[in-house]
Amino acid sequence: MSFASLGLIDPLLRNLQDLNYQTPTPVQAKAIPAVLNGKDVTAAAQTGTGKTAGFALPLLQRLVQHGPAVSSNRARVLVLVPTRELAEQVLQSFIEYGKGLDLRFLAAYGGVSINPQMMKLRKGVDVLVATPGRLLDLNRQNAVQFDQVQTLVLDEADRMLDLGFARELNAVFAALPMQRQTLLFSATFTDDIRTMAAGILRSPVNISVSPPNTTVSKIKQWVVTVDKKNKPDLFMHLVAQNNWEHALVFVKTRNGVDYLATVLNDAGYAVDTIHGDKPQPARLRALERFKSGEVNMLVATDVAARGLDIDDLPLVINVDLPIVAQDYVHRIGRTGRAGASGVAVSLVCADEAPLLAAIEALIQKTLPREEEPGFEAEHRVPQTSTTGELIKKPKKPKKPKVPQAAPGVKQASGQKPRPQGAEGKRKPAAQSQRAAAPGKGAQPSGTALTGANPFSTCGFGTNPFSTQKPRGKPASKPTNKPTNKPASKPAGKPAAGSRKPAAGSAGGRGKR
Ligand code: AMP
Repeated sequence: MSFASLGLIDPLLRNLQDLNYQTPTPVQAKAIPAVLNGKDVTAAAQTGTGKTAGFALPLLQRLVQHGPAVSSNRARVLVLVPTRELAEQVLQSFIEYGKGLDLRFLAAYGGVSINPQMMKLRKGVDVLVATPGRLLDLNRQNAVQFDQVQTLVLDEADRMLDLGFARELNAVFAALPMQRQTLLFSATFTDDIRTMAAGILRSPVNISVSPPNTTVSKIKQWVVTVDKKNKPDLFMHLVAQNNWEHALVFVKTRNGVDYLATVLNDAGYAVDTIHGDKPQPARLRALERFKSGEVNMLVATDVAARGLDIDDLPLVINVDLPIVAQDYVHRIGRTGRAGASGVAVSLVCADEAPLLAAIEALIQKTLPREEEPGFEAEHRVPQTSTTGELIKKPKKPKKPKVPQAAPGVKQASGQKPRPQGAEGKRKPAAQSQRAAAPGKGAQPSGTALTGANPFSTCGFGTNPFSTQKPRGKPASKPTNKPTNKPASKPAGKPAAGSRKPAAGSAGGRGKR
């Protein structure tokens, strides 16, 4: 099947040729004719399926072929998105696909000054891509009115609900003309999404290109179990050991992001960060630097889980699992895009077993587990299944206590004497192996995470990954002892030049 056979006009076909899009993806093949015919559409299409072109191409065509020119302070197509990043990305797609067409586009989102957005709206725009809160602000200030809106697109509708935009969305729906086309795209289809769809769509064409809530099968996924406090060490170890050059790394908290970025930077990696506390221009700059290859590691919170379109991203590493299971689908959807293969590795500690179970229930797949020698979890991560429940190990029957034999008294028959040195053998595997395997464990592959490193306080204090509370006794693991050695580059990595941090990458971050 070709794009021409879907009924797209020549200027669009030329732009697709320039972008080297040869054939429509499944969601495009189904959505483009339906949207061109003016139908409402729901599409269960996860990120990476080409859904943006699935709605942008036919809408561009309808804008050229139908309806009056846009008036001032009006928009003809309204695309609602959950995040600023996605707003920018969808805007770029419209600009690329609509090159040479006499149409105006704008992205409007919070966190930046509203005035330039108001100025641009004066002339009116054909396509307004907006986050719900900022759109309502603009509407309240009469910068945009909705009477010319012919199509509403909800992109990543599930994410908008997750982020608590339900009230804003209802306010927008109430303000829009009743006569309009509505398209709803969502990676996951929860009951809330179905209820919303039932309220705003009329006899929609329902499209499902992959079963909802599944992950792209070309993405190789697995889990490495580890204690929480050892996550940064294991992460650095895996990065060095596998020569992972280019990765998007997800961490739960802003502190965790900054900590890991510092560790990577100290080890010689060019790194930047994205999290909610960073101003929008800095977030976009970080993304651009990552996309252009200026930095090869991008460490982010879930702010970046959706809406980032990065070509050829081979690897996503979840240093922490997401709180919301659907976000796992979105995070790992950053790789394996447009048919490419990808890898998604998650470091999982005992606390996260319920999150892992919820993810496995959502994607209906048990993720294979691995343990990294030297990093075996002392706190066992309970087994999980696709039912979403933790599998409890049957309790071992208690061994009868061996009565303490008095000196010279024989052991009772049938009771094995405890072998000498048994205490030593019952030491946790991780501890003993770490001591025996230099270059692994707390100081993996030569990465001395010590000195100023908050992890060197043995898992508590400023360590953003640790939940351990200080116990009465001081930490006794010899390899975790603080030293004043500066962090060094992990062993076995290529020549320094290839990993040198780009000027200002971490320095700038530290000052922010
Ligand atoms: P999306 O799911 O819309 O975020 O798109 C994912 C990626 O696929 C983007 O990088 C698009 O540029 C790319 N893409 C979309 N449609 C096609 C196509 N028909 N052929 C090749 N690449 C595509």
